[in-house]
Amino acid sequence: MAAITIKNMDVTYNKGKSYVIKDMNLEIKDGEFCVFLGPSGCGKSTFLRCLNRLEIPTGGSIKFEGIEVDDAHIDAVRQKMGMVFQHFNLFPHLTVKQNLCLAPELLKLKSKEEASKRAEELLARVGLSDKANVFPKSLSGGQQQRIAIARAIVNEPEVLLLDEPLGALDLKLRQDMQQELIKIKNELGITFIFVTHDQEEALTLSDTIVVMSEGKIQQIGTPTDIYNEPINSFVADFIGESNILNGTMVRDCLVRFCGQEFECVDKGFGENAPVDVVIRPEDLYIFPVSDAAQLRGIVQSCIFKGVHYEMAVAVGDYEFLVQDYHAFEAGSEASPCLY
Ligand code: ADP
Ligand code: MG
Repeated sequence: MAAITIKNMDVTYNKGKSYVIKDMNLEIKDGEFCVFLGPSGCGKSTFLRCLNRLEIPTGGSIKFEGIEVDDAHIDAVRQKMGMVFQHFNLFPHLTVKQNLCLAPELLKLKSKEEASKRAEELLARVGLSDKANVFPKSLSGGQQQRIAIARAIVNEPEVLLLDEPLGALDLKLRQDMQQELIKIKNELGITFIFVTHDQEEALTLSDTIVVMSEGKIQQIGTPTDIYNEPINSFVADFIGESNILNGTMVRDCLVRFCGQEFECVDKGFGENAPVDVVIRPEDLYIFPVSDAAQLRGIVQSCIFKGVHYEMAVAVGDYEFLVQDYHAFEAGSEASPCLY
């Protein structure tokens, strides 16, 4: 069964004239790591808050394991959901262990002894057993977020909602925590719904990515689907770096851009249809200009990126981004090639 089913969900304000979420339709499978990805302000947090009714949708329906998420059922739903925020939201006047035990005791889900035992297990799980009796402010950001995650799973939720939980951490720690989250998810087998504006994070973590823009779902797919087959130029541009050019689909498997025709794998656009051509920088190679070269231009910049060089090459009025192991100096003539 789907863990969560969303049908025609809207969130509007200004008496319905402005929308934050528009006509969202989606199923999230049980046990899935589902990442919502989109730029700041696109409605990700609003969406997540609707799932546990911290925000009330103005239209449509949300079902959790077949149960309508409405006022009548919200207590039962919330018992099965944990939530982690970007700013760890630990209670500063409670010790780490008290933070973990608070909800299970308040909700009377566990006895004091059971809550204490579970808290100790989780502290061991996140490698912070020695911090049980300290206050949150004496912990680093990464440690606080580990505690916040432990706190969110102390009630053994079936779904964990995470709103940019790693956003306040520096890169190295964020990457460590990403691996940690994948482990936790695999061990617990629960559904993760994770919101981020970081495309690399989305690709790393997810089984399924939902790309959002301006309150609407743009594309739903696996990381490879989304990366290799972006459905429109917004998705292509948002996930990874892309060259996006105006082109014409001459016929099936033949596309024209920059005044030249190129073979491709795409079909079904009809004849002479205008299209956005998306070329990933790593799919372009750089060669010296030859008579056979279809694209020729001048290298504008060349930066060493560790594994490859990244070059901007001006061809006519378009600047191609090319990643190759070979470097061509700025100012030199070069030919970006697809094969
Ligand atoms: P994200 O988490 O993707 O950054 P949010 O869900 O926080 O986005 O916000 C989505 C957008 O909705 C923002 O631009 C926010 O300003 C706007 N918004 C949300 N509620 C209201 C409201 N009641 N009045 C005006 N704007 C709102
Ligand atoms: Mg947000």
